[in-house]
Amino acid sequence: MAGNDLNNRIFLTDSDFEELFGPVIARLVKIMNKAAIDVCPPCNGYCCKNINCLFYSEYFSTCPIYDRRPRECRYHFCYEVFTAAPLTKEEKDIMQQPIQELICGDKGEVAKLFFLFPEFPLDEKGLVSIGIRDDVLRIKKEFEGGCLDEQAAFTNLKGLCKG
Ligand code: SF4
Ligand code: SF4
Repeated sequence: MAGNDLNNRIFLTDSDFEELFGPVIARLVKIMNKAAIDVCPPCNGYCCKNINCLFYSEYFSTCPIYDRRPRECRYHFCYEVFTAAPLTKEEKDIMQQPIQELICGDKGEVAKLFFLFPEFPLDEKGLVSIGIRDDVLRIKKEFEGGCLDEQAAFTNLKGLCKG
C-alpha cells in the first residue's frame, strides 16, 4: 500500500485508488463493482442517501462523480453486493480485513488510508470544510429544476472534485 500525498486526498481516480490500496484490492473491488451493476439499480442508492452524501439525488441515474468518488465509496459494498460478487472466501477475507483493522485494530496503516474515518467527507459538514457545499447544492437544484441536463450536472459536479 502506498504512503504519499494521495493519503490525504478526498477525490480519487481509479489509478489513485490502486496506488493507495494496491493491485490485489483494486482487482477485487473491480469484481465487486461488476456485481453492483446488477444489484444496485433497483435500490437507487440507499447507502448514498443514508450516509447523507450531498452529491446524491434520487433523480440521478447513477453517482454523478463515479470516477472521482472517494475511498469511502469505493470501499463500500452492502451485504447484497458482497454476497452476489463471485469471490472466494479467501478473497472476501482480504476485502474485509482493512475494515476489521480499522474498527478493531491498532489504527495504524489502515487508519492512515481512511484518514477521515468515521467522518464521511461528502456530507454537509465535509463539503462545508472544503468549500464546495453551496456549489454542489446549486448544481443539483438546477438539475432537479430542469435547468441542467444530467450530463451537464455530472460534468459540473466533477469539476468541483479537486483535492
Ligand atoms: S451498495 Fe447496496 S445499499 Fe448501496 S446502492 Fe448498492 S445495493 Fe443499494
Ligand atoms: S459520491 Fe459516494 S455516496 Fe455520493 S452518490 Fe457517489 S457513490 Fe454515493
